[in-house]
Amino acid sequence: MESDSIDCMASSDVMDDDEIHHHQLSSSLSKTHSNNGNSNNSSLSSAVHPSTTSVHELLECPVCTNSMYPPIHQCHNGHTLCSTCKTRVHNRCPTCRQELGDIRCLALEKVAESLELPCKYMSLGCPEIFPYYSKLKHEALCNFRPYSCPYAGSECAVVGDIPFLVTHLRDDHKVDMHSGCTFNHRYVKSNPQEVENATWMLTVFHCFGQYFCLHFEAFQLGVAPVYMAFLRFMGDEIEARNYSYSLEVGGNGRKLIWEGTPRSIRDSHRKVRDSHDGLIIQRNMALFFSGGDRKELKLRVTGRIWKEQQNPEGGACIPNLCS
Ligand SMILES: [Zn+2]
Ligand SMILES: [Zn+2]
Ligand SMILES: [Zn+2]
Ligand SMILES: [Zn+2]
Repeated sequence: MESDSIDCMASSDVMDDDEIHHHQLSSSLSKTHSNNGNSNNSSLSSAVHPSTTSVHELLECPVCTNSMYPPIHQCHNGHTLCSTCKTRVHNRCPTCRQELGDIRCLALEKVAESLELPCKYMSLGCPEIFPYYSKLKHEALCNFRPYSCPYAGSECAVVGDIPFLVTHLRDDHKVDMHSGCTFNHRYVKSNPQEVENATWMLTVFHCFGQYFCLHFEAFQLGVAPVYMAFLRFMGDEIEARNYSYSLEVGGNGRKLIWEGTPRSIRDSHRKVRDSHDGLIIQRNMALFFSGGDRKELKLRVTGRIWKEQQNPEGGACIPNLCS
């Protein structure tokens, strides 16, 4: 894999890895499963709406167990089925094996309309209750929904809360962990003529009681190969705006400085990259910074993370995302 050829060396002001390790271990293991935001948890809803429990169960598709939304189908014997499953069962009712036909279950659709249910992330702290049909929309954007793994370059499907993801990055992706709000990274690559989209590095920083992901990668920007470094905050967008960071890279008497606000890991790595929200170094300049005979990429990236005094007005504009 491309990343193997990049050596990453980091030093930070405070090396306190032991503390991180203990902290992570204790907070993650017990949470793994309860934090995955299990849907259709009827015991949850019964706690809030005792009378709707059985209706809620009726609205669970007997085949895929997802919540059913209009059109809800039924067979001649009254067995219900969601519209996704209906297309898969070759016109046979999965419950009684009779021919399915094309019957809507309007009564159940109407009952669903009258229901109010708690957000499925209630166990993660969401206090909201929604009409059945708008619940799904809320859940897609719910602030309490679990985060996706921020590791770039692989389609990792792991989700969870931040302490769980930090442990996952360290143990499963073998990501370097550092404590402190300043850093000094060296990225070394022996054959910089090859720039592929799959070249990336990730380091996690722990400071101000929060975690930050420093991404460094090479990709093709139009026809030009570039290197890019940027920071993402392990938390939501609102909290991310409380922090700022700077990145500096240079050599041979020249220097590039980037100052920005870390993006939330709610924004995918790719989305941040494509909005160019970070330090971008043209390859020619990167090779110039590296010194020597341009055969080797040797970039020294220094950086700092700091906390802003006050949240600067909620609606900060994100490059390329405000139209
Ligand atoms: Zn189904
Ligand atoms: Zn049936
Ligand atoms: Zn919610
Ligand atoms: Zn992962």
